[in-house]
Amino acid sequence: MQIGRSYPQRVRDNILPLSVAGTLPEAFKEWAFTENTEDHEDAIEVCQLCEHEDLRYHFEIKNEFTNKTLWVGSQCILKFNLSVFENTQRLTPQEAKKKLERLTQQMRQESCFNALRCLAQKEDNQILSNALQFYEKNKYLTPKFAFVVLWRLDHLKIDHSASFFKVNLKKAKYKNDLQDMESSHLKMIWPALTFAQKQQAMRLRTPA
Ligand SMILES: [Zn+2]
Repeated sequence: MQIGRSYPQRVRDNILPLSVAGTLPEAFKEWAFTENTEDHEDAIEVCQLCEHEDLRYHFEIKNEFTNKTLWVGSQCILKFNLSVFENTQRLTPQEAKKKLERLTQQMRQESCFNALRCLAQKEDNQILSNALQFYEKNKYLTPKFAFVVLWRLDHLKIDHSASFFKVNLKKAKYKNDLQDMESSHLKMIWPALTFAQKQQAMRLRTPA
């Protein structure tokens, strides 16, 4: 990365040589998201369009005339209104945003699966294999499963992001389990709870 180039200059330098059009925003019209994504597991990657650093997720874009590709952040696709398709339909900016969020969510879920599978392999434990089965079926964990899973992942130092796991608190049983949970256990699952769930947990555990 050359120092001193402005943000718009960096974008132009990176995209114009790979495009047919010689100016922005004409060049942007030639580019579309290819549906390819990559999770680099840590925020270590660079957007090849704007050179923004610390990206964990890459989205591939391709020029329809030159067939050149770039790995970029989802923000650049949205900011420059690059084409995002569903089947053959070009999405509106709002739909495109939703789609890219959905794909990011899928990558997060996949990284949870990988961590859980790795855990179930390392530790021969019925609770963990049940948790894995449950997660595969429901795409969320119960508070009790979440505790065991996050505790063991942490203990065995298996790379994971606790906040990517989803915990269900809708069923009465799960609410009760959360209410009766030891504080140290609750602390373990805390990062996996949403803001609303954290508030719910505090209400449930405050003596009336
Ligand atoms: Zn970017």
